[in-house]
Amino acid sequence: MDCNESISDNERSLKTSKISKANNMPSPCTALVIEKEAGQRTTCDWTEAIALLDYVCSQIADRYYLFSKGQPRKAAIIEVLARNTCVACVDKELRTKSFQRIDNMYTELHQLACSMLVEELYDQLVKNGRNVTITTEENIKYGKIDIFIVPSNYGLSLHSNQVEIAVEVKTGFSLSLPQLLRYMIDNDHRSLMLWRIRNQQVLLFEGTETRQLLAQFVKMIISRADRLLLTPEPQCKHMPQGKTWSPNQEQLQETFSDFSKGIIKTLPTVIEKVVTKLEREVN
Ligand SMILES: [Zn+2]
Repeated sequence: MDCNESISDNERSLKTSKISKANNMPSPCTALVIEKEAGQRTTCDWTEAIALLDYVCSQIADRYYLFSKGQPRKAAIIEVLARNTCVACVDKELRTKSFQRIDNMYTELHQLACSMLVEELYDQLVKNGRNVTITTEENIKYGKIDIFIVPSNYGLSLHSNQVEIAVEVKTGFSLSLPQLLRYMIDNDHRSLMLWRIRNQQVLLFEGTETRQLLAQFVKMIISRADRLLLTPEPQCKHMPQGKTWSPNQEQLQETFSDFSKGIIKTLPTVIEKVVTKLEREVN
């Protein structure tokens, strides 16, 4: 009988914790996770799962130097982990950082749409007699203000005493499910509205409805991250998929044309949906 073939969960966790100890000093939260990991890994408590997720992401960020403004690039790491079952492919992708490419035009359109959304929503809420302020997340203090609009990289979030709604703006056709789930992990108490401008669609996801799916997703990411961290030099014969795609002139032209039509047609819809949801829950 070959005992070396089978690695128990506890041994795997111990190995992971050894990797972490060798690399850097763990934060108090990480230390807690490590302790729990070595002892019992079967618990499925949400907070603990999230702490563990943060922990594996920071380990991967260290290994591949994936930081932005001093913080691990958690979104990119989760996205790459979610897309590849093969850890050697994950390794290649994280090494080449091929997820960074995006045409400037898409960034510009995205910023423009976010900007219009913020102002239009503000106007509409003020018209409804609401006391609204546009601010940053750090400056939110509930007092005389009814509603806060917080512009963000992905769109905006809306905060009141009773409700939190995030609106994520998508300018391309692509819809990244891992990205969406990743967003909901961080904000599982919020509602997420997805505004797909080119598709002319507005979708609503409730954090509470997707809790089990999120838990399963987090479990998958942690376990894949674990496999990656425990493989010093992953090797495979897969060919990297064509990540070098960049849009040509016609495609950019089409993007712009779809965007112009889409934004005019669906901006009123997204505003109406957000305002209706808010007014229903705020008295
Ligand atoms: Zn592979």
